[in-house]
Amino acid sequence: LKKFPYQSVLVLGLAKSGTAVAKLLNRNGIKTIVNDLKAVESDAHVQELQNLGMEIILGEHPLSLLDGIDVIIKNPGIPYENPLVRQATEQGLPVLTEIELLYYFELDSLVGITGSNGKTTTTTLIYEMYKQDRRKVEVAGNIGLVASEVAETIEDGAALVVELSSFQLLGTQCFKPSISVVLNLFEAHLDYHHTLDHYMEAKSNIFKNQSTGDFLVYNADDQLVELMVQQAETNLVPFSTNEQLDNGTYSDGIALYYKNEKIIEIEKIALVGEHNIENILAAIAVAKLEGISNEAIKSVLTTFTGVSHRLQFVDNIEGRLFYNDSKATNILATSKALQSFQQPTILLAGGLDRGNEFDDLTPYLKNVKSFVLFGETAPKLKALAEKIGLESIVTVNNMEEAVKEAFKLSEEGDVILLSPACASWDQYKTFEERGNMFVESVHKL
Ligand code: ADP
Repeated sequence: LKKFPYQSVLVLGLAKSGTAVAKLLNRNGIKTIVNDLKAVESDAHVQELQNLGMEIILGEHPLSLLDGIDVIIKNPGIPYENPLVRQATEQGLPVLTEIELLYYFELDSLVGITGSNGKTTTTTLIYEMYKQDRRKVEVAGNIGLVASEVAETIEDGAALVVELSSFQLLGTQCFKPSISVVLNLFEAHLDYHHTLDHYMEAKSNIFKNQSTGDFLVYNADDQLVELMVQQAETNLVPFSTNEQLDNGTYSDGIALYYKNEKIIEIEKIALVGEHNIENILAAIAVAKLEGISNEAIKSVLTTFTGVSHRLQFVDNIEGRLFYNDSKATNILATSKALQSFQQPTILLAGGLDRGNEFDDLTPYLKNVKSFVLFGETAPKLKALAEKIGLESIVTVNNMEEAVKEAFKLSEEGDVILLSPACASWDQYKTFEERGNMFVESVHKL
């Protein structure tokens, strides 16, 4: 943590990243106080920090915590309306997230990927391309490992590829990837960010410190992204699925190109789904900027079939094709999944109610013959189905019932698709748990 300018840090929120950050700061001799509303003394991670001699305040957020503190590192999930955070901001204290620490590790190569959808898929593709080219690389961030922890021990010369959420990006000051990627911008997470402007501001933090030696790979087909990158002061590398680009990657419908050099024919690509072409174009751009060979790129693209819970093929049972797209937690993701199939489709959807409407799904429901609904948003989705004149609508209590009902309603040749268009937290701990329940229920049939 060279040049880290703060002497006394308050770590807010003791989840995985908070605990990792507290330990990291402690290892680097920086005075650290940790505070969490929910954690209790008997938690293993709390005891671990206690054993390191850290000051830990649990169960409340007293304002006195700010005395003598010169920076807050907060969990990305803690809202800025939190009284302690608000007070800190009023006092002029920086409120940062863990990824800001990456700046102080002075990495040789830092690739940051953000966007509303496709982050994990694109991050994984890029990581696999580095590995296939026998390059030193680590992957971290939203996708799994805590980024700053990985950065601390990364080998010299290795690249760090990080998946970044808008929540993480909001708390950055100096953070600067050498290559940043913006996939798309969609009005997701408005419950947290309130306005689209705020959301765009968070996402634009990915390139705000980038300069002439850096690169910004972005989706030239996305109007909001195009608007946003106008503020960038770095090298722009666009990608597009519908126009030829001399300075970026594009598809002509038959093959994919980087600066007019043909990289791969689309029919050779293993990943399904139109939207994945966008993710692949972004990944190719990064790979080419990093000097990864065409052979390595092609080898990944002809073999990589996707990350679990992202339009993942589960099984073929009596001619019904089951797909698990549990990660589809918003309308854009579900619309992309629906566009990936021409067959009659039974859609399993519903979940946490974020206060949004589902009308934007309407254009993509042409092949949907039945809705199987669950969770808080089931009534809203039912109303949508009725509005478009669909008669086959079933509301169920859990995933096992959903799969059974879907199977009953299906015929040979149908697709049975879990793509909920909602977060899972009303009924499940995570989207993985929801997806696993689906896969298990399918295997039980
Ligand atoms: P993220 O990490 O941003 O949530 P994932 O790669 O995990 O993205 O994919 C999440 C969901 O979004 C999946 O359901 C997938 O089918 C859909 N998706 C993936 N890439 C895109 C894209 N480029 N545009 C729209 N939807 C996408």
